[in-house]
Amino acid sequence: MKSLEISSKRQGLSLLVVAVLSLAWAAAAAQTTVFDNVRVLTMTGSGVVSGARVVVDGEKIISVGAAKGAIDADATVIDGAGKTLMPGLADMHVHYFNEDDGAVFLANSVTTVRNPWGTSQTLNMDAGAKNGSLMGPHIATSGPLMDGPKPIWGEGSMKITSPDQAVGAVESQRTTGYTAVKLYEGLTPEIYRAAVAAAKERNMQVWTHTPDGMSVNELLDLKVDSLEHFDNVDDVLLPEGATADGYFARWAAADSAKMAALASRSAESGMWHSPTMSVILQRYVYGADPEGFFQRPESNYIGPGLMQWWQGSAQRIGPYTDERKAAAVKQKQFLKSLYDAGAPVLLGTDTPNPFVLPGFAIHDELALFVDSGIPVEDVLRIATADAAKFLRQEGEWGVVAADARADLVLLDADPREQLDTLRRPAGVMINGRWHNRSDLDGVMAELKARVAEAREKSAAAE
Ligand SMILES: [Zn+2]
Repeated sequence: MKSLEISSKRQGLSLLVVAVLSLAWAAAAAQTTVFDNVRVLTMTGSGVVSGARVVVDGEKIISVGAAKGAIDADATVIDGAGKTLMPGLADMHVHYFNEDDGAVFLANSVTTVRNPWGTSQTLNMDAGAKNGSLMGPHIATSGPLMDGPKPIWGEGSMKITSPDQAVGAVESQRTTGYTAVKLYEGLTPEIYRAAVAAAKERNMQVWTHTPDGMSVNELLDLKVDSLEHFDNVDDVLLPEGATADGYFARWAAADSAKMAALASRSAESGMWHSPTMSVILQRYVYGADPEGFFQRPESNYIGPGLMQWWQGSAQRIGPYTDERKAAAVKQKQFLKSLYDAGAPVLLGTDTPNPFVLPGFAIHDELALFVDSGIPVEDVLRIATADAAKFLRQEGEWGVVAADARADLVLLDADPREQLDTLRRPAGVMINGRWHNRSDLDGVMAELKARVAEAREKSAAAE
């Protein structure tokens, strides 16, 4: 402490801050939490364990065993009687840049997100989720989108016009700390291949749309890591010799017999499909009735900017036609074909695209997977353990097991019987930090009030 006394006021202060922070960290790290007498969906080979005791120390689960024997007197004990504990969910396709969404994700049982277009801000937000300075989920992120000379999403995308430039862009994203690249539609096939090769050399993942001039079959041959939104799958599924104009017409015409073939090719390739059912079909259901949608209580957390964008897009979306309904049937059928063939799939929403609510949309996505015919037990595994496996972090999270990260949700019902229980968890643990129901309610009420105020201000300014 001597050096602190003689240092300047400013240095002393920052030293003090460091000292306080490390004390807080030490306290958090030493904190033991015990979930006792709880039913556990482990998402491992151990399956479901009843009457369990799950002990969390610091950021990690240290044991999952029977609820018997003495509990450390210093531990915080959470009574799990009648409740179910499972890993937090992963929304594997989000665009998360509004820090307010962090608490909304947690309140909806989402403890990890994958963000396929990130910046250094995203990396900071992930660090904040881990050290507790930001209330929100862990984030796996790619760097900025890599597109051609006229990027679809404009500024913010990297404009790549040569194979060398692609290699340079991949390398710069690696050194910035991204673990994946997001490749987009305007890349030429030659540049696209160069980017994929550069990413693979660097052990980075490739998350992708289908570039113009290439087919999904070529992506399967290249063994890219994930294809988003079933992008251009409709071209492969079109019946021989058929022509159908437009996205929905092509999907509505999709040949069911071709689905099984593409699904088994996908399984062989190991490429994961990230269908984002919420954005490819559910948004058209909601967008056809924007008034009804904005009456839903979940819409109370949408700020004025997003709301304006969504209202404008509702006019472009228009009615939910029979053709769209027919397309949706085929899209679900293809998802089921993938499942039947053992092809890996990711559960993600593409929030905050129009009518895809941050946090809340995960429940639509889960329901759409179940509705496609995938058993609910497997849907829950896809949304947890499989997501970690995709990110090459199998067993590190997405499971309730010793040494896994303590990202957990405590539920009032068994989600295998009542999926909706995930909408309102009794509590959520993120990286070992526990938020009980009243904490979550408090944060959500505060956010709702702030959004209402922002909407009023924006309405008054018009
Ligand atoms: Zn997206």
